[in-house]
Amino acid sequence: MLLRVDVLMPIGEFSQRSGLSARRLRNYAAVGLLVPAAIDPASGYRFYAAGQIQAALIDALRNAGVPLTEVAAVLRQPSSERLDVWVRHVQADADRRHEALDLARSLLADVGSPAQTNTRLKGKTMHLILMTSARTDIGRVRENNEDALLCLDHVVAVADGMGGHPGGQLASSLAVAILEAAFTGRSGDALEAAVRAANRAIFERAKEDGQLEGMGTTLCVLGPIGGAHLAIANVGDSRACLVRDGVLTQLTEDHSVAADLVRQGNLTRAQAAHHPQRGWLTRAVGVGQNVEVDTFLQPVHAGDRVVVCSDGLFNEVAEEQIMSVMSTARDRDEAADELVRHALTNGGHDNVTVVIADVGA
Ligand code: MN
Repeated sequence: MLLRVDVLMPIGEFSQRSGLSARRLRNYAAVGLLVPAAIDPASGYRFYAAGQIQAALIDALRNAGVPLTEVAAVLRQPSSERLDVWVRHVQADADRRHEALDLARSLLADVGSPAQTNTRLKGKTMHLILMTSARTDIGRVRENNEDALLCLDHVVAVADGMGGHPGGQLASSLAVAILEAAFTGRSGDALEAAVRAANRAIFERAKEDGQLEGMGTTLCVLGPIGGAHLAIANVGDSRACLVRDGVLTQLTEDHSVAADLVRQGNLTRAQAAHHPQRGWLTRAVGVGQNVEVDTFLQPVHAGDRVVVCSDGLFNEVAEEQIMSVMSTARDRDEAADELVRHALTNGGHDNVTVVIADVGA
C-alpha cells in the first residue's frame, strides 16, 4: 500500500475524528471491518488514513444491502434519518420473509412424502367434515353489514369488521378471502399462518389508502384436522361455542376490555354482557404489523355442534335462548334462521352473523 506517512493518523487521533472509541476500532480491525492502514511492526502502533471513514461507511451500507444510488445520497447529505428509513425497510422485509416461512412450514405438512401418505392410509386417519348453515344480516340499525363469513366443509369463519365505512367491510371480507386462499394445511399451525397472512394483507392495504386507516376485523375460524380435533384460531370478540349434550360452552376467549375485567375478577360475566366498553377490542386483525392469535385444538366427535358468531348475536340473544333454539329447531337451517330472527326481535343493534357447523365423520 502506498501511503504517505504524513496523512496517517495514530489511533487516538483517528478515534477523535471518527467518533469511534479506540476499543471499537480494535474490535472492527479484529473482524476485518476497518483495518488500520498501517501498523508499525516495531511498536505495534496502528495508523489510519483520513479517507478510511468514508470507505468504511460505504462498505457498511453495501453490507446492509443499501443500493448504490442511496449510498451516494447518504454521502452527499449525511444524516442518520436516512438510516432510520433503511432500518424500517429492513425490518419490514424481515417480517415479510418470516411470515412467508411460517406459511411454508405449515404447507410442508400438506405436501408430505409418499412414505407419510402410506402411513396415513394404513392408520386410516380420517378427516372429520363440517355440515354447515350460515346466515348474516345487516340488523335494524346499521347502514352496512361489516360482518363477513366463510362456510366450507373444511373451514368456517366469522369476521366482524371495524374502522367505519368503507374500511370495516373491506377488512372483514379481505380476512375471509385470504383465509380461504391460505388455509390449506389442515393443522393448527396452518390455521394460524392463514390468520397471520390475513393480518398482513389488511395491514398493507390500509397503508395504501388514508380512507382505510385503522381498519381491522375480528376473526374466529375453525377447521377439522386429523385425529378428531378442530383447530380453532381467534382474534377479537367473535365467538366459537360448542353445543354438546344440551350444554353450550364458549370455546374462545373474547379479546375485549370487558372480558379482561372478567378475567381479572373485577366484573362478573353478567355485568360484562352490559358493560359500556364490552365492544372495545384489545386485539384485532389488520391493525398492526403483527397480531397475537389464540390457537388451540378442540377434541370433537360426530354429533357435536359448533356455533361461530359475531357479537351481534350474543349481545342480543341470551345463552338460554340460544340453547332453546338448538333444542326446538328441526334442523341446522331452521336453527340459523331462528337465531338471527331473535337477534332482530331483541333489537338488532348490530350486524349479526351465525355459522352452525355440525361435526360429521
Ligand atoms: Mn359486531
